[in-house]
Amino acid sequence: MRPRTAPDSNSRRMALPWTRRRGAYRLYGCLSLNRTSPMLVVMKHDASEELIAEVVSTIKDMGYDARPIRGGHRTAVGVTGNDGADEAGRLEGLDGVLEVIPVTHAYKQVSREWKESDTVVTLPNGTLVGGSDLVIMAGPCAVEGEQEILEMAHHVREEGATVLRGGAFKPRSSPYSFQGLGLEGLRFLARAREETGLMIVTEALDPDGVDLVAEYADIVQIGARNMQNYPLLRRAGRAGKPVLLKRGMSATLEELLLAAEYILAEGNEDVILCERGVRSFARHTRNLLDLAAIPVVKSLSHLPIIADPSHATGRRDKVIPMARAAVAAGADGLIVEVHQNPPHAKSDGAQSLYPEQFSELMDQIRVIARAIGRDVGASVEAVATG
Ligand code: PEP
Ligand code: MN
Repeated sequence: MRPRTAPDSNSRRMALPWTRRRGAYRLYGCLSLNRTSPMLVVMKHDASEELIAEVVSTIKDMGYDARPIRGGHRTAVGVTGNDGADEAGRLEGLDGVLEVIPVTHAYKQVSREWKESDTVVTLPNGTLVGGSDLVIMAGPCAVEGEQEILEMAHHVREEGATVLRGGAFKPRSSPYSFQGLGLEGLRFLARAREETGLMIVTEALDPDGVDLVAEYADIVQIGARNMQNYPLLRRAGRAGKPVLLKRGMSATLEELLLAAEYILAEGNEDVILCERGVRSFARHTRNLLDLAAIPVVKSLSHLPIIADPSHATGRRDKVIPMARAAVAAGADGLIVEVHQNPPHAKSDGAQSLYPEQFSELMDQIRVIARAIGRDVGASVEAVATG
């Protein structure tokens, strides 16, 4: 029995829950898996580029897709499109191949089995999502006007955020609520990026809207209500921009990871997951922040995961404590709503922080981050000049 390892959120090593037996795989010793699952061809650590290319071309000759995945120590080649055909034996016989393993989860490319090392999403201003530093995305729920968004952008940047949030297209529970400024809102966000260097995350509501949002945004947000909108996920997978995928309000983690799989299956590996609370019987907060989802997702998937304490709690005074808790639980960052005048916000005022509260939140999470060997990402000016 030879345990495999994968880095957890703090880059410590941990065992993956499977062991190999001749011709079969066992999960915690109770579930037998045959070799007709989707496969991952793990190359020997000293396998040359030629041998890797040989494996890729053999897989393609077999009529399947091959995707090399470069790890710190070795390369693996993911096989998709094999429809469960039993081809492991043929691939195992190739030079440079260490072993062929089945991917045991319904989701494949998002799993740690597929890729051991953490995915780090790099944004054009140098922000790294999923690295050792936390990334803070902050701003109003909705873009309400040019001056308003510029003012918030300057404030959150000064406090250390590197990404500006703000909906131009809003998925409101009621059709009579403010629906967002649309294209004008996107233009205001672009102006804020020009002035501050902050990256923009904003939501695309439907497949036809993705290209327009992607033209202005640095990260395309898919909201909780749309987590299982498969045409939208597919379109986002082809948008050429990183995607922030929020967990649906009644979605299991498997459903969240399968939703992410839709995006990766289109060739977009830059996916950031977001825990934003799920529906529960409890009434004391808007949603129930599922903190355990953070370490669980980290062990199942290589994708970064951030937390949204604003939508999770729905109440301003609960946002800071839950932000602290999410950072302590290992979140790679936060997305937080901040407004200069929350009682008059056009959406989600009750959960929007006052600017001074956002400053307080940043001070506090820096302390928590350092306690677990992390930090809050450098400000965009420092990134730009460094
Ligand atoms: C939002 O970020 O403003 C939003 C609508 O979030 P969610 O999709 O998580 O409800
Ligand atoms: Mn909101």
